[in-house]
Amino acid sequence: MYTWGDNRRFNSYTSYIKRKFGARIQKLTVDAGFTCPNRDGTLGVGGCTYCNNDSFNPSYCSPHKSITVQLSEGVEFHQFRYRRAKNYLAYFQAYSNTYAPLNKLEELYNEALSFPNIMGLVIGTRPDCVDIEKLDYLSDLAKKYYISIEFGVESCNNNTLMRINRGHTFEKSEWAITEAAKRGLNVGAHLIIGLPGESKNDILKQIDAINSLPLTSIKFHQLQIIKNTQMALDYANRKDAFSLFTMDGYLELMVDIIERLNPELVIERFSGEAHPTTLIAPHWGKFRHDQLLQKFEKLLEERNAWQGKLYNATHKI
Ligand code: SF4
Repeated sequence: MYTWGDNRRFNSYTSYIKRKFGARIQKLTVDAGFTCPNRDGTLGVGGCTYCNNDSFNPSYCSPHKSITVQLSEGVEFHQFRYRRAKNYLAYFQAYSNTYAPLNKLEELYNEALSFPNIMGLVIGTRPDCVDIEKLDYLSDLAKKYYISIEFGVESCNNNTLMRINRGHTFEKSEWAITEAAKRGLNVGAHLIIGLPGESKNDILKQIDAINSLPLTSIKFHQLQIIKNTQMALDYANRKDAFSLFTMDGYLELMVDIIERLNPELVIERFSGEAHPTTLIAPHWGKFRHDQLLQKFEKLLEERNAWQGKLYNATHKI
């Protein structure tokens, strides 16, 4: 079994951050007022069928406040829970955070990097919202700061991507991830587990595709049906087209996934947590992410499983 500097059975983000910085680092979310080409009419206006950005933005974030104000409020917000964190990463989360001309990005990122004790940036975006010029600029920043770029891959299957109206292909994700990694950036991917039309086998096959990419980290989210989305309408009309996971079913599948996953890949999240007032289904009760994680770790032990246990057998580069 691999060891990652702790006694966990997977390569956790917490332990990665400790290895990298020698201490806990808190992410502070900012909403810089970006939009997305899948919403502003460039690619479409409806967005991805599951998307409602309001469902995951923390309360202190608002594009009406400056980056500096949002970061100050973020520090205050986190001070009670995480007193040990003295340093921070600015997390540009809402919408597509490279979707603006380069000079605008420079202005926003520089404001964040000038805030006290900010060690770097985590930038969430779409793979079709970066170009070589922007990646070269981020690569320059990475000489001085920790720079991570997270791409919404969502699925490695082009039929699924079309069905959920992503507006880009998996090949676009492969391109963006490869170009970003070539430039020394830490590259993350976001994957949704349980999208319509994907069987358990389809999901597991995608892990081979993920393993073949030069990624640093990955976030998994179970599919959640959120109010005020196209998917909510589709779900109301045809519930039988969806096979949403029970909590136990999801955790069992996550063990299968983790066993196949490259042990070098840092796992940043296992599940999503939409705000209960926006969530239509599935309802898993009042479980916080850390409680779910405990259940998952117990299951890993029961099944004597760990990240990468089957990696060599499934690795297809
Ligand atoms: S999920 Fe991301 S890419 Fe899709 S519509 Fe929402 S903000 Fe845009």
